[in-house]
Amino acid sequence: MIRGLDQLDLTGKTVFVRADFNVPVRDGKITETHRIDSTLPTLRFVLARAGKVLLASHLGRPGGKPDARWSLTPVREHLEKSLARPVALAPDCVGPQVEALVRDPGQKVILLENLRFHKEEEANDPAFSQALASLADVYVNDAFGAAHRAHASTAGMARFFRAKGAGLLLRRELDYLGKALFSPDRPFVVILGGAKVSDKIGMLKNLVPKVDSLLIGGGMAYTFLKARGVAVGKSLIEEEKISLAREIIRLAESRRVPLLLPVDHIAAEQITASPITTGADIPANYMGLDIGPKTVDRFCQEIGRAGMALWNGPVGLFEEEKFSRGTRSVAQALVEHGAISIVAGGDTVAAVAQAGVEDKITHLSTGGGATLEFLEGKILPGIQALEEEP
Ligand code: AMP
Repeated sequence: MIRGLDQLDLTGKTVFVRADFNVPVRDGKITETHRIDSTLPTLRFVLARAGKVLLASHLGRPGGKPDARWSLTPVREHLEKSLARPVALAPDCVGPQVEALVRDPGQKVILLENLRFHKEEEANDPAFSQALASLADVYVNDAFGAAHRAHASTAGMARFFRAKGAGLLLRRELDYLGKALFSPDRPFVVILGGAKVSDKIGMLKNLVPKVDSLLIGGGMAYTFLKARGVAVGKSLIEEEKISLAREIIRLAESRRVPLLLPVDHIAAEQITASPITTGADIPANYMGLDIGPKTVDRFCQEIGRAGMALWNGPVGLFEEEKFSRGTRSVAQALVEHGAISIVAGGDTVAAVAQAGVEDKITHLSTGGGATLEFLEGKILPGIQALEEEP
């Protein structure tokens, strides 16, 4: 069992919140604040109850030593504005100066400096974990994006706490992704795309036995089509994954899971050239860069009958307008009827935003590697560390 915020006694306590503030920074300015903003509800909930709040995150890859380029200074500024209250930036994340700041009754919100300024963070060092844990009474993890890493702040320190739980963002990820894996509303339709099969093997193997139908588009579809003997021209292919694609096709057949591959394509001789619409077979000099109109209809029809739909990976080279219709149509189909829709992966979330329907998706999972590993059925160390006996 993992406790939620409302199951933790936070009143008057010093609460350590492990958040994911790993935002892109250029010239000392944050260029995309989404990760920080999505954890604000957790911070507001904790702030309204706790005596003191310690916020901790990694930022970039400083390589285990202090590096001013990766200071959390810009994060502090953004937090102060968003929370409309003073936020102090500690000079480090452990040590006497930090302890003094934590003891200071004048400081209510303290942002600890970049956890990765210490190599012990990524090494999940027990003494470092204990030093972090000694600062607070309660541990809250809201950093889903880092939950697949067994680091001191995500896994190691949790065992020092009796009172620990998931922040609102982490809870939401667990609820929706957990529902997809263990109790989906049916029919459960999964749409997979993106460039490569190799990134998705684990997910395919884990999901095939759980779904009612599987729709494959994007670059990865061509390895499957080749495995079925379809002509794919110059499309993206992973030769060494063809036998694996056959294995997945057989697995789907043995489970009686319909596996839908593109039956037509938008293809071009080069990305910059004018596209043509082809049938199932792609001419030798052409590469498939989007699903064709018949496939769009077939995919949308299947999505239309879903009770729950999970989508990872664009079904075409959507960054180019002329190859974006398939991806836009999938995005639209997901929100057109009342099914639960889950969209996972940075590119796919971007595609949904491009289609202007991001507000209508039930859950946008932004965990990146963590989301994929969760969907592969792996146990994530940062989540396991929060588990308590019921
Ligand atoms: P992934 O990170 O594996 O989800 O891949 C996302 C990328 O795959 C996006 O940049 C898409 O443009 C690209 N992609 C999707 N379909 C194709 C295709 N048919 N050919 C080449 N690239 C594609």
